[in-house]
Amino acid sequence: MILAGWIGTIIRKSDLMSHSPSDLQAAIAEAGLIPGQSPSPLLLPDTTKLFAKRAARLRHLASGHSLEGWLLFAALLADAQQAVITTEALAPPERQWLTDLQALLTALPALTGPAQATAEGLRHATEAEVAERQSRLQSGQGTPDDLAASPFLGAAEQIAWTRFAAQQDSAALTPSAIAHSCPVCGRPPVAGMIHIGSESSGLRYLHCSCCGSAWHHVRATCVACGESKGVSYRLIEGDHDGVRAECCDSCHSTLKLFLMEKSPDYEPIADDLASLALDILVSEEGYQRIGGNPFLVLGN
Ligand SMILES: [Zn+2]
Ligand SMILES: [Zn+2]
Repeated sequence: MILAGWIGTIIRKSDLMSHSPSDLQAAIAEAGLIPGQSPSPLLLPDTTKLFAKRAARLRHLASGHSLEGWLLFAALLADAQQAVITTEALAPPERQWLTDLQALLTALPALTGPAQATAEGLRHATEAEVAERQSRLQSGQGTPDDLAASPFLGAAEQIAWTRFAAQQDSAALTPSAIAHSCPVCGRPPVAGMIHIGSESSGLRYLHCSCCGSAWHHVRATCVACGESKGVSYRLIEGDHDGVRAECCDSCHSTLKLFLMEKSPDYEPIADDLASLALDILVSEEGYQRIGGNPFLVLGN
């Protein structure tokens, strides 16, 4: 379930450069935004702090959480991601992530238990072996060893694609207000955030599961099939009442939403992990996640 939908169409900047300014205006109008007054329909990641912010959020959420050890492990990965993303790419992201994986493994502190054995195996694997593992995971045919390696592979891919995304020109990319995959790397969203603030208040941005980009998407319609009828919301009352699962009865997809008016500190990858209970609730009702979280595999 978790890895379904992880593969998307990769859209190159060169493909998008052919769009004329009128295409961009049309996309902005379609998104309901007013040129010169509205926020950008595409928000690119800030590599100086994305992973550091995630690590801090994971540590905050871990305190007293039933998945404390797992969240702290993800925080260690995020620390290492922040260290590695400052290095320069020597290849396109489709190949660079293999180099970033080795740098990530070097940047990590000493691990224990199964995570240590998995990291050691990856350190000594050839690039071809690692790429094969990733390809099995993407096709939903991962072995138990592949699943154990998935957080490391996902973390490395996030480094390479986030570095790439940060170097793009947001004005040259034209996200659609109904796009269900990332305009930069083609992956599906991990979650949506309902923004606060003078310019973007009330707008929904979908956050990429891989490259840290976010794009505007109309609210109250299913991100997978575009239906607005039969869309409903689930939440677990209490500490997590700013976290909703948007569920579609047309295609049985679900996507988490974080309401920043409830907490401006939500971080899509970290808070998605910490709200696993909501995933369990909606999966028992038969809904399937639209996009994966590379760190969710460990929790299965
Ligand atoms: Zn992306
Ligand atoms: Zn749907």
